[in-house]
Amino acid sequence: MKNEKVGRQRVTSFFISYFSFSMNQRELFLKHVAQTSPSPLGIEVEKALGTTLYDTAGKSYLDLIGGISVCNLGHCHPVVVEAIKKQADSYLHVLVYGEFIQSPQVQYAQLLASRLPASLQCVYFTNSGAEATEGAMKLAKRATGRTEIMAFKNAYHGSTQGALSIMGDEYWRNAFRPLLPGIRHLDYNSAEALEAISTKTACVIAETVQAESGIHAPPPQWLQALRKRCSDTGTLLVLDEIQAGFGRTGTLWGFEQFGVVPDIALLGKALGGGMPLGAFIAGRELMGVLTENPVLGHITTFGGHPVCCAAGMAGMQALLEEGWIEQVKAKEQLFLEQLVHPSIKAIRSFGLWMAVEFDSFATNKKVIDAALAAGVLTDWFLFAPQCMRIAPPLVITEAEINKACDILLSAMG
Ligand code: PMP
Repeated sequence: MKNEKVGRQRVTSFFISYFSFSMNQRELFLKHVAQTSPSPLGIEVEKALGTTLYDTAGKSYLDLIGGISVCNLGHCHPVVVEAIKKQADSYLHVLVYGEFIQSPQVQYAQLLASRLPASLQCVYFTNSGAEATEGAMKLAKRATGRTEIMAFKNAYHGSTQGALSIMGDEYWRNAFRPLLPGIRHLDYNSAEALEAISTKTACVIAETVQAESGIHAPPPQWLQALRKRCSDTGTLLVLDEIQAGFGRTGTLWGFEQFGVVPDIALLGKALGGGMPLGAFIAGRELMGVLTENPVLGHITTFGGHPVCCAAGMAGMQALLEEGWIEQVKAKEQLFLEQLVHPSIKAIRSFGLWMAVEFDSFATNKKVIDAALAAGVLTDWFLFAPQCMRIAPPLVITEAEINKACDILLSAMG
């Protein structure tokens, strides 16, 4: 009886293995890896180095999106890989966040604090950008005792329930209602938005430069007025630097160019040097409210994983020491000078962060597909499907920019 059962299991697992082996990676990807897009790009990655991705058929792609503003230092920078290996040799996960003193976390928090304004010195490391958003929303509610949260139309702060509640586009959030109560969506860069903020508002959350709407930078005066209105009403200003951070705008932090300092900064994407890491950062006293009533005001098992912190810190040091940020504006200009074509309706840019606008998604998709076929990887924006995303690793060379522009212009026909 027992032997019969074991025999049947062996036959079953043989068939599963046989059919799995007879399926190629693409088929297995579509079958077993959850999909949320009906048409994934589906490049089968072999390796990625610097600004170039290689697929398993040996084709190379010049990467103009860097994992969506993650790989600012390029793929697999040697110092990042070395830091990962070194940390992996010492310890991986040891305990949930905040109990043990883990040198990679401490060192990285100190480095970040040394490069942030004096009011932003206390770092809570998370797993992702969305979790950083969630943490900031909780912190603002807990610290102010208020429940109203203001966000902006066309804003993106993550895809979890809280972050989704402040997402600024009804199409993307509607199917998941009910969402958080007390959220108001205001027009970015409007006077009405400033007036709507009151002593009932716990926090205002804004991207320093709106990304997914197709790169919209507000005038500095508006962001400064927003800062003032928040200070006047005791409202916390949360600036989402998850895409803007780590030099993409031409300064280490985007908000440096606007003359404002947030009460809470959100980091993610490039923070981990290619490993998953996010953070919300505030003053020590403000952050302190998460330690009482309730104790453990935000809990995470893996947030601030030592390998991710070691990788992120090595990446940030290299980014600063190798001088990539200083080159951003000149490289932006090189793109702008060359990307001239009758089918381009507009280009909005803020550093190595550009939205090339066409008349429709159909045109954009044609260009993106033709560029991909010719070995250049670009993408569109969540709330601006007619815009092509150019946000390459900051280490892209002049020769690569020239090559990318040639291919993009040919793709436009
Ligand atoms: N904020 C901004 C501005 C983002 O671009 C993103 C990710 N695209 C997030 C928050 C959420 O980050 P994550 O995907 O790591 O949750």
